[in-house]
Amino acid sequence: MVLWNRSYNPKESKTVKQLIKKLTNLDVRYESFEGSLLKNPKSLTKSDGTPYLVYTPFWNNFLKQNQEKILSSPTVLPPLPKNYEHHNTSVENLKILGKNSWYKKFHEFWTPGEKEALRKVSDFLKHKVGQYQSLRDLPHKDGTSCLSPHLHFGEIHPQRILSLVEKNHGPIAKIKDPSIIQFCKEILWREFSYHLLQFFPHTTDLSLKEKFSSFPWRKNKTYFLAWTKGQTGYPIVDAGMRQLWQTGWMHNRVRMISASFLIKHLNVPWQEGAKWFWQTLLDADLASNTQGWQWTAGCGADAAPFFRIFNPITQGQKFDPEGNYARLWCPELSKLPSRWIYSPWLAPSEVLIKAGIKLGENYPKAIVDHKTAREKALENYKSM
Ligand SMILES: Cc1cc2nc3c(=O)[nH]c(=O)nc-3n(C[C@H](O)[C@H](O)[C@H](O)COP(=O)(O)OP(=O)(O)OC[C@H]3O[C@@H](n4cnc5c(N)ncnc54)[C@H](O)[C@@H]3O)c2cc1C
Repeated sequence: MVLWNRSYNPKESKTVKQLIKKLTNLDVRYESFEGSLLKNPKSLTKSDGTPYLVYTPFWNNFLKQNQEKILSSPTVLPPLPKNYEHHNTSVENLKILGKNSWYKKFHEFWTPGEKEALRKVSDFLKHKVGQYQSLRDLPHKDGTSCLSPHLHFGEIHPQRILSLVEKNHGPIAKIKDPSIIQFCKEILWREFSYHLLQFFPHTTDLSLKEKFSSFPWRKNKTYFLAWTKGQTGYPIVDAGMRQLWQTGWMHNRVRMISASFLIKHLNVPWQEGAKWFWQTLLDADLASNTQGWQWTAGCGADAAPFFRIFNPITQGQKFDPEGNYARLWCPELSKLPSRWIYSPWLAPSEVLIKAGIKLGENYPKAIVDHKTAREKALENYKSM
């Protein structure tokens, strides 16, 4: 008998179809399971069977459904067949670790496995979820769960997370605490992403809103490279891109700001950024990544409108007023006073000298001027 967890990656589902055909021909029994999602992504639809394109009604429909129950672990397992050969090898032997530098520091940031995932969720629900609403947008605070890699690798099931929430707070539909509801809603954004990917599999490569196929984005190697290396001269973007490179993870608020900067300020197609995130994120997930990039570009479902362009200076000042996040990931700025940390080019020269910063030498000059880039982006949008 062959057992597997269902995959909703459109490319993998082709392989699964071939596998099923082979197993059927060989008369081998098989069974698949909802190993990583709450529901089959096509099971929650509008009453006429069409997909949701807006998140809130998707969430409301979810609240009306009966929740699955978490089964307890089996106490006894049948023994392995006598002729079963057990293969054991180390991660190093598999040679799957790529060229990225982050894995060298991997264990400083991550402990893989179910045990750690369960520890993290219980710690988060006990000590942090109550402040989730107020802290979740602050990249220098430990305000989110950091469960995304554990969810991605199937080390914890979203149903277990929601069951633990319900154990403490009762049925989700009746919870009033805005922080706890917000956290549950984020878990459901992941489901919404899979819902969109299932109904619109082409969106991994193409914008959901067709009119964006004529957007005059241009591939620009110099800009793209500066962005990937965290060398754009905009500290909030650079800090995020360096956090990604060194840890394999980036805070959600900064994912939005740095993605927006690539698409709107540097005019690089969103697909290029999505590919980079796909290669470098530990939680790289085809559905959530596609949805995150399309949302930011304004071309996806329930997306932020294109013309609402994040200002990388004020976003930094608003969500990290002391500049602690910038100082952590861009240490060359560590002595710059908070007032200038998100716009070093505006700092008086004596302040820069005192902080040991030579713009263009030990920290880059801003790669584009915010105001000019914004105007150009809006012009491009109108020309579409
Ligand atoms: C451009 C861009 C790319 C992204 N790429 C990915 C990706 O490849 N993989 C990924 O898991 N998430 C992605 N996200 C969503 C989000 O940034 C991460 O899920 C979140 O930062 C993970 O941190 P956390 O576990 O502390 O989240 P928490 O805030 O603690 O949220 C709990 C869980 O809810 C889910 N979740 C939260 N926000 C979102 C969201 N916006 N969309 C979908 N699910 C969400 C995640 O599974 C997360 O672990 C992306 C967002 C953007 C803007």
